[in-house]
Amino acid sequence: MRIVPLLATLAFCSPVLAGPNDVVRTYPAQKISADTYVIHGPQGVPSVENQSFMNNPAWVITADGVVVIDPGSSVQAGRMVVAQLRKTTKKPVTHVFNTHVHGDHWLGNQAVLEVWPKATLIGHPDMIKKAREGADAFWIQLMSDMTKGYTEGTRAEIPTVEAADGQEFKIGGKTFRIHSSTDAHSKTDLMIEIVEDRTLFTGDNVLGRQVMNLRDGTFKGVLQETDRALSVKARLYVPGHGKSGDHKFVEEQKAFFSTLMAEVRRMYDAGKSDYEMKPVLVEKLKAYKDWAEWDANLGPMISLAILEIEQE
Ligand SMILES: [Zn+2]
Repeated sequence: MRIVPLLATLAFCSPVLAGPNDVVRTYPAQKISADTYVIHGPQGVPSVENQSFMNNPAWVITADGVVVIDPGSSVQAGRMVVAQLRKTTKKPVTHVFNTHVHGDHWLGNQAVLEVWPKATLIGHPDMIKKAREGADAFWIQLMSDMTKGYTEGTRAEIPTVEAADGQEFKIGGKTFRIHSSTDAHSKTDLMIEIVEDRTLFTGDNVLGRQVMNLRDGTFKGVLQETDRALSVKARLYVPGHGKSGDHKFVEEQKAFFSTLMAEVRRMYDAGKSDYEMKPVLVEKLKAYKDWAEWDANLGPMISLAILEIEQE
């Protein structure tokens, strides 16, 4: 007889906690080319406010089915992506690409498998390895902590198929060409080119007007991959976070990284410390001061740049 009131009390006391069937609030999907949709998520880190959702899930409708890229940060985010996807096509999802090991890009895999259990999950070999060796639990916990438990119930569905650099996946009449690297944003990164559509999904190697969190990567690698993204000469670039567009935002990232690295190097050689460098860099990079995550990531980037220079 005591069970019902107890459950009612628990429910009342836990307004933030999501149930196992919850879905994040809806964000619109944008049709960016004939067969491709992107949900441009809000920029920033996972939070109670954004219910964990802050990346750019996308899908490409092919003749044989749908290919999803990065279905989001949690099962709850992935369910929202799946619901939006189903408004655009009746075809099943056959493949999912995950651009890298950071959980905001792949913990939504679970929601895809809830509906299409036979979908093939594809990722970088080192992403698969790291996820199996504990990055899965790390990201599930981090996502839950940052959303105060909203993402509870999220499980890791780790890719089972490896994608190699230069490999081409022919799916339903489209060619998904892989550009992979081992020292860029997360050291487990794939960029995915849809050859026929001249679209490049950059993952987090290129962000749209956002200062990168580079704690798991290297400046050298990100700059190399930014150049590689430009050399693809895509018509349309889709970043891991921020708005899609032509090559301009990719050029902007290249300029930001090049300036930051050159200035840190110059001041490092002059014996300056990171706190002396910061005001100089704030001035030199002021054209970018409105970018997302400027306040959070610029300082750490300077420290990371110094570490990288010391290790050369
Ligand atoms: Zn990300």
